Amino acid sequence: MWAGHGTGRICIVCDAAITASDVEHEIIDGPATVWAHSACYQIWLWESTAYERANVMDGTR
Ligand SMILES: [Zn+2]
Repeated sequence: MWAGHGTGRICIVCDAAITASDVEHEIIDGPATVWAHSACYQIWLWESTAYERANVMDGTR
């Protein structure tokens, strides 16, 4: 995982550009690479974990 100052990429969580004054987190999600604000990344991490758990409980995975 990589984090640094934003370069104007679109945040996968809130859909807003990550500007140079924000911290950008690079997320390798399987074959895709996405970016998120530092705060959004924490949310994404939590939701992603919850999603995995839900899938396991549903038995869809
Ligand atoms: Zn964001």
